[in-house]
Amino acid sequence: MSAAGFILAINLVVAGLLGTAFLMVAVYDRARVTARWLAFSFFLGMAYYVVEVSMPFVTDARVPVVVAFAVFLAATVAFNAGVAHKYEVGVPWRLMGAIFVASTLAVYFAQDLPRQDFWRMMAYQVPYFVMQAIAAGIVLSARTQRGIDFALAALLSASALQFLSKPFLAAAFGGWGANPQAYSQSTYAMVSQSLGTVFAMAIALMMLVILVRDLIADMAEKSETDTLSGLLNRRGFERQAHRALAFGSRQGMPISLVIADIDHFKSINDNFGHAIGDRAIATFAQFLRTALSDHHVAGRIGGEEFAVVLPGTNLVAARLFAEGVRGVAARLCVEGIPEPSRLTASFGVAELASGEGLQELMQRADKALYEAKKSGRDRVRVSTEKGSGRSPEARNA
Ligand code: GH3
Ligand code: MG
Ligand code: MG
Repeated sequence: MSAAGFILAINLVVAGLLGTAFLMVAVYDRARVTARWLAFSFFLGMAYYVVEVSMPFVTDARVPVVVAFAVFLAATVAFNAGVAHKYEVGVPWRLMGAIFVASTLAVYFAQDLPRQDFWRMMAYQVPYFVMQAIAAGIVLSARTQRGIDFALAALLSASALQFLSKPFLAAAFGGWGANPQAYSQSTYAMVSQSLGTVFAMAIALMMLVILVRDLIADMAEKSETDTLSGLLNRRGFERQAHRALAFGSRQGMPISLVIADIDHFKSINDNFGHAIGDRAIATFAQFLRTALSDHHVAGRIGGEEFAVVLPGTNLVAARLFAEGVRGVAARLCVEGIPEPSRLTASFGVAELASGEGLQELMQRADKALYEAKKSGRDRVRVSTEKGSGRSPEARNA
């Protein structure tokens, strides 16, 4: 077996392994189609290598050359479809379809040119260059990019240029052989195939890292979301609240916390059943969400207990926020709870004092909530303990 033939065989195995890796990601990430397209792309890559490996054994290579070209180009089309899905950009099917048809015809007719003709080689390489450039363009046209996305775009651009460099590489390494047999024995074939493998592996590994990163981010988000209310669960709330507190403290802005607890919830469960109780929680949370802004951090921190961090909000404003929620919540209708029963909630409010942490802030808001419960429920109480008296209004609240 020639060195280039050996590299082709290795490429075949590598393409199969990478295709399988993407297939495995696709099993874990059924919601998104990117990994499926990428798996398909690398399996098409495998098919290309099968055709290439058999090339030295055929006498008239015209059709196999076109087939090999078209299969590899189809692999780049499938790859681009996967990338477009990942970056939520429309798949440029028409453009890629037009390039596919035109270039397959061009490669077919280019074989009438002398084998070493520069334009014959270009007919083969330019479409690959364009497809990879489209992939880089897709990544760069996404709405948001992070460091690794720019690195992927750079890698795709380098890979695209690699295809354009091939006619020059062939010239530097003594041509690409007078026939397919000679090609498979040539130094150029070895260099070209190795270069292709390095780029394909680097791109595949980077895509795998990006897909796994997305998968982990999704799982983390799910693990921090409460399914009944759609708000953060306690863990998610605490993590994000810590971040909001740290950021707010650094900026020197006021930050307040509101804790709400639905009143007499046990009797809702007892009188109307657990399912209606769940619906009451969902209804309250749904309303609470409508009262929030993007910078608020809200979570369901217990059975029928909710917490909201309000960055940039002092005690007076936080109290007004809580009063607003309380007033509307008391008019909420819950399907299954007949009139005149009403869903009411009590609220405790505290403003972050300097040097205070989340735990202490929550304890003060909790105490204020307890006061609200003790003094009759369906009301708002603010924490007047140490740290809450920074604004004069707070003392009068
Ligand atoms: P209070 O006005 O003092 O807050 O009275 P309460 O009845 O609301 O008091 P408490 O906080 O002790 O009761 C909460 C009840 O909420 C106890 C528990 O059975 C119920 N609960 C906790 N989680 C859920 C849930 O996910 N769904 C339903 N339906 N009930 C829940
Ligand atoms: Mg309660
Ligand atoms: Mg409670």
